[in-house]
Amino acid sequence: MSIKKASLALLLIVAILLTALPAFADGDPTFAVDEVSAKPGDTVTVKINVVNNPGIASIKLEMTFDDDLTLETIEYNKDIGGMSMLPQTNDSPVILNWFNGAANSEGDWTFATLTFTVADNARTGEHPINITYTQNNVYNIDEEDVYFAIQNGSITVSVDPTGVNLSETDLKLHQGASKTLTATVTPPNASQSVTWKSDHPNVATVDASGKVTAVSGGAATITATTADGKRSASCVVTVEPHTFTGAYQTDAENHWQLCACGEQGPKTAHTFEWVVDKPATSEDTGLKHEECTVCGYKRNENTVIPKHEHTLEKVPANPATHFADGNIEYWKCTECGQLFADPEGKTPISKEDTIDPMIPHTFGEEWTSDATNHWHECTCGEKSDVAAHTFGEWEVTKEATANESGSRKRICTVCGYEQVETIPVDRPVLPDLPVPTTAPSATSPASPSTTPSDPPKTGDPAAPALWASLAGLSVLAALAVALPRRNKHE
Ligand SMILES: [Zn+2]
Ligand SMILES: [Zn+2]
Ligand SMILES: [Zn+2]
Ligand SMILES: [Zn+2]
Ligand SMILES: [Zn+2]
Repeated sequence: MSIKKASLALLLIVAILLTALPAFADGDPTFAVDEVSAKPGDTVTVKINVVNNPGIASIKLEMTFDDDLTLETIEYNKDIGGMSMLPQTNDSPVILNWFNGAANSEGDWTFATLTFTVADNARTGEHPINITYTQNNVYNIDEEDVYFAIQNGSITVSVDPTGVNLSETDLKLHQGASKTLTATVTPPNASQSVTWKSDHPNVATVDASGKVTAVSGGAATITATTADGKRSASCVVTVEPHTFTGAYQTDAENHWQLCACGEQGPKTAHTFEWVVDKPATSEDTGLKHEECTVCGYKRNENTVIPKHEHTLEKVPANPATHFADGNIEYWKCTECGQLFADPEGKTPISKEDTIDPMIPHTFGEEWTSDATNHWHECTCGEKSDVAAHTFGEWEVTKEATANESGSRKRICTVCGYEQVETIPVDRPVLPDLPVPTTAPSATSPASPSTTPSDPPKTGDPAAPALWASLAGLSVLAALAVALPRRNKHE
């Protein structure tokens, strides 16, 4: 191997070491505590290691940890000689003490091996195991202080979420309003962190803290998912949109309305029309102003109409319908816009005067019907009071026989619509059935509600059996004379 190659290999090894042990890369003497993972209830081992050790003969450390951890055992490294002392109590803070080393113990070694149990209800996340030491507590055989850096360790507890609940599962918000949802992950010691998502951000958005903001009318489902992605819960958010109603707000160019929440509706430009306040004549000037046809906003008030002979143009009548206003016949001056009721321009009228108001529908007392519904109908075809028929009982109008189908009818109690239905032919059945004791003979008429021609679709669970029995009986019509006549209800 060439020198170049060897130094390259060395560099590579150093690089790997640097990457693998970044905390010790500078070669500082360090007390390093393990970082381990655990589930609640686990027993885990944590080592305190001596790294980059220049040689020491005594160590006294103070170690702290939280209530979710219980320190069960401490085992000092016996290979390094000297003496060690177990603490009086294993409750945090714990003093770890090794002293009277016979010589400087050099090199890397494990100082103590600790066993912890993790509480069943331990909080999820990192539980630090921190160590400190004070001056004069770490020294060599010559009782010279040796500086050690500290790398604290931890037991990181992970608790698998079993579920997640939301503070609301159904939320109604007005457009623009906000509400913060709270997600509770079970069990309580699992990580409470969830990610939030809206399936329709155009309707409602949700931020990382669960704050829902209503954007526009509609429905959106907000879902909170646990950090492991395995559990989730949803809330349906219904957004009520702004409704812009009530008095118009105006400025010189536009009009708009407000929502009850105060939100300003879209601005729309005025649609101006000249309104004559005082018609001009051939002897006298008149006055007019412009007025928005939507909001009534006025401008150019007291505009003078020069005296002139009106030039009248006829506007033909357009009769009102049941669906829209019409107008009467009138005349309009092409020069000044004034309206007149007469072709001579003697009777000035306003725009309102020309309106032929929409004719209201007239729904008579008579019902109109089809097979399903009845309703009142206007002459224009508009329907009112549309409702399904309310039928009474079936009435058999013709009994079915073995050879001929029958018929029955029922009547809507509201409109009198009559529904007629065919009763199918009584099908012959071989007479091997036991003779029923409850049936009337085929020649004996029964009451409509119990008629044998009543098809078995009435929902009575006994009906099919009855039907079959009766059908069988009808074949025995010839023998009917011999059978006793009995009423079914006996
Ligand atoms: Zn609103
Ligand atoms: Zn307007
Ligand atoms: Zn005119
Ligand atoms: Zn009508
Ligand atoms: Zn009806």
